[in-house]
Amino acid sequence: VSPVAIDGASVVHGDRVRTGTVRTAGGTIDAVAWHDDERRALCAGAEVVDGRGCWLVPGLVDAHTHAYGTLLRGTESALPLELWSLYTIAYGAGLDDAAIRAAVLLHDAECIRSGITAVVDHFPHVDHLPAALGAHEATGMRVLCAAFVHDISDYDLLDIDVPPDLRALTTIAPLDPHAYAAAFADWVAIARGGSGRVRVALGPNAPQRCSPAAWALWKRLRDRHGVAVHAHALETRAQAQIARERWPDGGMLAAMDAAGLLAPGLSLAHAVWTTGAERELLARRGVAVAHNPLSNLTLGSGIMPLIDYLAAGVTVGLGTDASNCAGRHDLFETMRAALTLPRVRDDDPARWPSPAAVLTMATANGNAIVGCDDRPAGIVPGAAADLVLIRRDTIGGAMFPDTVDGVVAHAGRDAVHAVMIDGRWVFRDGRVLTIDEERLLRDVAGAQAGIAERAAAITPRIDRALASIGAQLRRRPLDELGVT
Ligand SMILES: [Zn+2]
Repeated sequence: VSPVAIDGASVVHGDRVRTGTVRTAGGTIDAVAWHDDERRALCAGAEVVDGRGCWLVPGLVDAHTHAYGTLLRGTESALPLELWSLYTIAYGAGLDDAAIRAAVLLHDAECIRSGITAVVDHFPHVDHLPAALGAHEATGMRVLCAAFVHDISDYDLLDIDVPPDLRALTTIAPLDPHAYAAAFADWVAIARGGSGRVRVALGPNAPQRCSPAAWALWKRLRDRHGVAVHAHALETRAQAQIARERWPDGGMLAAMDAAGLLAPGLSLAHAVWTTGAERELLARRGVAVAHNPLSNLTLGSGIMPLIDYLAAGVTVGLGTDASNCAGRHDLFETMRAALTLPRVRDDDPARWPSPAAVLTMATANGNAIVGCDDRPAGIVPGAAADLVLIRRDTIGGAMFPDTVDGVVAHAGRDAVHAVMIDGRWVFRDGRVLTIDEERLLRDVAGAQAGIAERAAAITPRIDRALASIGAQLRRRPLDELGVT
């Protein structure tokens, strides 16, 4: 592969925007130049791509998503997580390999078209994990695919009496540690036999949804395979309540620490309901957090104290979560939510995160969570050649001065012009080059028809039970939970 020189783009470089030339060789950025003679030298002998009229930004990283959820678009509701999830489990039941493949391709196509080059796919349907790994490989995305493990239902934790005709839906099969360990070893081997862009992680659904035996399995498999771990944690007020009841001395995160589970390589999604001491603990242990502001708002989960996390020194990435709770896999939207939400909690503008800090969350911090390599972050020599050209010579993009603040405020996925992952173009001229999108849409329609047919037998039962289950969701006063 001959080197590629992207010439004349407005390069988003740290907290500055500068006109320059960026050359890639193989999967790496090998040179960046700002001065005319150096820029000409980079273009000599390279395939030159005209970047004029575009911003060039590092690939965006979605630090928490569920790829299968793209098939469930249209099933959005106005319900909190514990009720929303009844429907989501119902819609997600019975997916086969073909449906999972369609979901993953649809997800990755949406992400690529949105300038997202890497994701954490927190993956529930582990029987179909090899199909998901194969589909992620095919799209060229960088993926940390975190395989669910759990053995306790939310409804048991919350002591909610579920009607008999829904128990099959809310009952979680007992965990067979030996069978899971054997399957996990297979998934790791499949991923390690591939391009290196797709990796397998352990994906405990959430610590409170795991028994002590599941915690032990988590630690054992993490250490045996040297894999990352990604889990939901302390997402809703009900979960904070469960954690206070189940771990009255010090809380859930302290219990995880005592069990050796808080370590670098662990990332927690949401983490809305934490104390200051817990945030300090996460920072000390090198645990990262995936902040999902739009999911938290949509499900009424709360506002994550981003400023306090940043002050504590926790690495925070940004996530879009599932399509059917948080909408688009659109990190431009998510960045703007992360940028502005802290302003309603804190009236000191000196503490508000800057646009450059939010862009770092969506790029370098996300990369640290996906953890696919330890190359430097950003558009610098030696960094991964994961790059996005965004048109700025447009009605929505024309601006002066050309600043990172302006990019975060005005750039959007509709202006994404070209996307490179690992030195290879995956989106150009309006097409995702790694996916047959027309065929994919036919496959998606078929999979969605199957979901609709299966769900028709169960969702009326959820509708009937909703009021009773909702009434059993105890919502304690905030001060009793001791979180801020
Ligand atoms: Zn999630």
